[in-house]
Amino acid sequence: MRKPIIVGNWKMNKTIAEAKAFIEACDANAHDGATFGVATSFIALNDANKLAKNLIVAAENCHFEDNGAFTGEVSVPMLEEINVKYCIIGHSERREMFGDTDETVNKKAKRLIDADITPILCIGETEAQYDAGETEKVIRDQLTGSLANLCPKCVSNMVIAYEPIWAIGTGKSATKEDAQNCCAIVRDQVKVMYGDDAANAVRIQYGGSVKPENIVEYMACPDIDGALIGGASLKEDSFNDIMSKVK
Ligand code: 13P
Repeated sequence: MRKPIIVGNWKMNKTIAEAKAFIEACDANAHDGATFGVATSFIALNDANKLAKNLIVAAENCHFEDNGAFTGEVSVPMLEEINVKYCIIGHSERREMFGDTDETVNKKAKRLIDADITPILCIGETEAQYDAGETEKVIRDQLTGSLANLCPKCVSNMVIAYEPIWAIGTGKSATKEDAQNCCAIVRDQVKVMYGDDAANAVRIQYGGSVKPENIVEYMACPDIDGALIGGASLKEDSFNDIMSKVK
């Protein structure tokens, strides 16, 4: 069976000191019912990862090249050196503001998999695409590009986060029916590309205004294996509350 996975995506929040205080307040409450973790800024990763015993600590991005003239970027070998085991790729904020594309996200996925770091691949439609009824096509197209030419076993071990852009940071979360339906489409697209075993094993998260009040209803959906959480992951109390509600 798929183990649930709940990850807080802190985005550009928390200094090193704040990250450490959070880990100290939450780490002991991470229990075996799920994989729990946080994604931190590059600068806080090493301290957070050293301090965390039960929480996993993820990077929020990486570059697909190992080194070179890429000012401001961080490579996968740099993440490996500090024992990072998970990395978010293709978050909509990176796609919209920093030029990430399905093609570059696919290169990042390949490089992470080679390093045994689990990619948390984000996909999701804009509000205009949702209104135009294009959600399913957008999901399938993004997965076709981002998951191209990987091995079925590699995809089995990945995490895919379905995050409708209109639900991110807006308080306007998807209904559980919509979220389930879209996560089922994600699973079906994995099946089309990599077969039943990969589709049954891949862990799929919903993201977009997840909070203590709605985590239980999302987790009850058959194709939702977890959540990628922005705002509600920033406060120790609410993250602890969410962890206590995931069995
Ligand atoms: P919010 O939970 O703040 O809507 O953010 C979701 C998100 O972008 C997680 O990656």
